[in-house]
Parts: sequence; structure tokens; C-alpha cells
Amino acid sequence: MVGLPLALALAQGALKTVVADAAPVTRALDPKFDGRVSALAYASVRMLKALGVWEGLAPDAQPIEEILVTDGKPGQPASPFSLHFDAQEVGAAALGHIAENRHIRAALHAAVERAANLELLAPAAVKTVRTEAGGAMVTLANGEQIRAALVIAADGRESPLRAEAGIGVIGWSYPQTGIVATVEHQKPHNGVAYEHFLPSGPFAILPMTGSRSSLVWTEAKTKAPALLALDEARFNEELARRFGGHLGKTKAAGPRWSYPLAFHLARDFVRPRLALAGDCAHGIHPIAGQGLNLGLKDAAALAEVLLDAARLGQDIGALDTLKRYERWRRFDSFTLAASTDALNRLFSNDIAPLRHLRDLGIGIVDAIGPARRFFMRHAGGDVGKLPRLMKGEAA
Ligand SMILES: Cc1cc2nc3c(=O)[nH]c(=O)nc-3n(C[C@H](O)[C@H](O)[C@H](O)COP(=O)(O)OP(=O)(O)OC[C@H]3O[C@@H](n4cnc5c(N)ncnc54)[C@H](O)[C@@H]3O)c2cc1C
Repeated sequence: MVGLPLALALAQGALKTVVADAAPVTRALDPKFDGRVSALAYASVRMLKALGVWEGLAPDAQPIEEILVTDGKPGQPASPFSLHFDAQEVGAAALGHIAENRHIRAALHAAVERAANLELLAPAAVKTVRTEAGGAMVTLANGEQIRAALVIAADGRESPLRAEAGIGVIGWSYPQTGIVATVEHQKPHNGVAYEHFLPSGPFAILPMTGSRSSLVWTEAKTKAPALLALDEARFNEELARRFGGHLGKTKAAGPRWSYPLAFHLARDFVRPRLALAGDCAHGIHPIAGQGLNLGLKDAAALAEVLLDAARLGQDIGALDTLKRYERWRRFDSFTLAASTDALNRLFSNDIAPLRHLRDLGIGIVDAIGPARRFFMRHAGGDVGKLPRLMKGEAA
């Protein structure tokens, strides 16, 4: 999901680009593949529009008009303090969009098929990358070789390419599991996303197209297997205890998925002839739904640095070119990763003084307009040095 938009940006800037994905295209488009949705910040939506991807995705994307944040315990009414974000307050039609990952991937693949200067090889796992004078040689699992000025690793959390380059990570796993399911409900969601902080972790209800929402339920690792194994009726009861009654009767539709949750940050984002992007470079807690947005910002920034260098006739794989990307993105990634980690620690517990403190914090931010608008700009990705693509311009 990060590699394809990056490749599109480079190819649209007239750099000959090859994508090798270990997964076959059919798996990437299969609705049963991961069951996940992504909250796309409006800066990411502007980028997908600039790349010509958005028109294929828009019919399947649900605008987020409001976000409601509350603190509580299962089966009990939420704390009286809540935080309310409204798109109208910042003069926007939406605070972002929710789209199923399979729809994002389908829209990306359709744009890749139309693109000039871009070749997709799939299934094609990269086996080795060797740096040579003036370039790098990539060897695929089938023995085929590709020579390139630069190799970009966007191969996910477990990144074999990062490991092969000997780049270590700073990181830890959370004692939590992310349970993901689609929930059908009786009443319309009206474009409202809910983030309900429960003692085991955040319980997010993200509006999807139709009367459906995606549930991202962070639960203690020790309790998650039993919840995942519940029969349909008992699982729906547990859902109802946490949902509250605002959406009427709720019921899980389709399979339940679970993801181990972990934090990591690569010690280096670049090496001569190699750049890391997306989850390969950083993995964060899904508490704020920002992992993909962060990866898309890497893609937009890297494309901008590389295309500027190419236009000036510079070597796109040289370390001093790539260091410009690292300086731009590593600190920003660290800041967001550290804040999501702190948020998760502050909210995923039932310690009374901390509960009071965070309820007070929620109440204070809600009462102060500029503070609310600050958080809305953050959630929308409109902070820091924005790459041209995220302003809606060509890379
Ligand atoms: C429960 C949960 C909820 C989330 N919700 C959100 C959200 O609401 N909003 C948000 O912004 N983010 C969210 N995220 C994070 C988001 O899903 C990830 O940040 C995003 O998928 C990362 O994309 P990526 O392209 O970097 O990596 P991946 O999607 O992991 O892609 C890696 C690619 O590399 C390929 N690959 C692997 N090895 C090789 C190899 N050797 N050769 C060739 N190809 C290879 C794989 O086939 C795959 O296509 C969530 C994460 C979780 C766990």
C-alpha cells in the first residue's frame, strides 16, 4: 500500500520504475486477505487525488464527518468527559475517509495498469540486493536480475530487505492484540467515528459505506484468544457491552481477524543505493490510525527528493541525495511513533489517578477551540513540512 503509490509518483515523474511484490495480485485484491480498513487523513486523500488513484476509490470510501472520543469501562456508561471533532469546525467536508484495504489496493492496481514507465512483477519475491559501482543488482526468487540506480524497500514490518542490509530496529511488542471485524448495525452512523478508551486499550468504531462499521478492538494479549474463539452469539454480546446502544442492535459480519501489535523504528532509513519506506521503516500502534498515512508521507517525500535530484541531473541512489529524505522523514516518524506509544500507555489502563487525569485532559481539550483544531489538523496530516503530493500538487 506504500510501495505502489511511491512507484506511481516516480513513474509519473518520468523515472523508469519496476515494482516486485512477493504476493500475487489476486491475493492483494482478495476480500478475505486481511479484513482491514484504513483511516485516510485528508492530506493522504489529496495525494491519492494527485496520483489519479482517488477517482477509483472514492465510491467505496466513507467520509468521516465527526470523531467522538470517550473514556469508559465495558458495560458501563462512558465518562461524562468527551472530545468531539467536527469537520465543519475546520471548514472541511470530511476529517478523512475510511476505506477497506482491498479497495485501496484495487484502486492502486488500476492506476498502475494505466501508468507509463511502470512495470509490476507479481508474484516476484526479492531474494538479494547487491550494491555495485553506480547501481544495485536485485535478484528475484526466480533468478531474474534487475539493475537499478536505487532500490526502495517497502516490504513491510518484517522487511527481509532491511535485514539483508543489516539495518537494525529499535522496538518492542505491546501486550495487546488488535481484533478487527466488520459490524453491521441497525441505525446509521452518520459518518461519525468513535474512539472509546477501555482499560485493555482503545476500541475504535470506524464508519464504512452503508450501515456498517469497522471495529479495531485492542485487547490484552492474554484475553484475545478467548474472545476470538467465542461463538457468534457470545461475541455479539461482548460487542454490545462495549458499543453502547447508540447504533442500535449490532452484529459482527464476516470473519474476525487478529494482529499482534508492536512498535519499531529502523536505525537508518537509507544506505547507499537503498531507501526504506512505510512499515519497513517504522511500525506504530494503531491507536490513532496513522500507520499508512505515515508511510504515504514517506512515499510523497521520497518521490519529491528523488525527482528533484533527477531533474538536476544528480545521482538518485547517492547517499547525500538519500540523506535529504532521511532528515525529512526520520524525526517526524519518531515523533508520531513516540506520541502514539505514549497515548496507548496513558489510555490502556484502569489506574484511578490516571483515569481522572486523562478525563480532565479530554474535557480541557474539548473546551478549547484552538486545541481541538490543532488535534484535527494533526489527525488530517496537515502538519510539519508537507510534500508537494500531500498538498495536491504533482511530485
Ligand atoms: C489492526 C491495524 C489497524 C490499522 N489501521 C490503520 C488505519 O486506520 N490507518 C492507517 O493509516 N494505518 C493503519 N494501520 C497500519 C497500516 O495497515 C500499515 O501501516 C500499512 O499497511 C503499511 O503498508 P506497507 O506498504 O508499508 O506494508 P505492507 O502493507 O505490509 O506491504 C508490504 C509488501 O511487501 C511485500 N513483500 C514482503 N517481502 C517481500 C520480498 N522479499 N520481495 C518482494 N515483496 C515483498 C508484501 O507482499 C507486501 O505487498 C493499521 C494496522 C493494524 C495492524
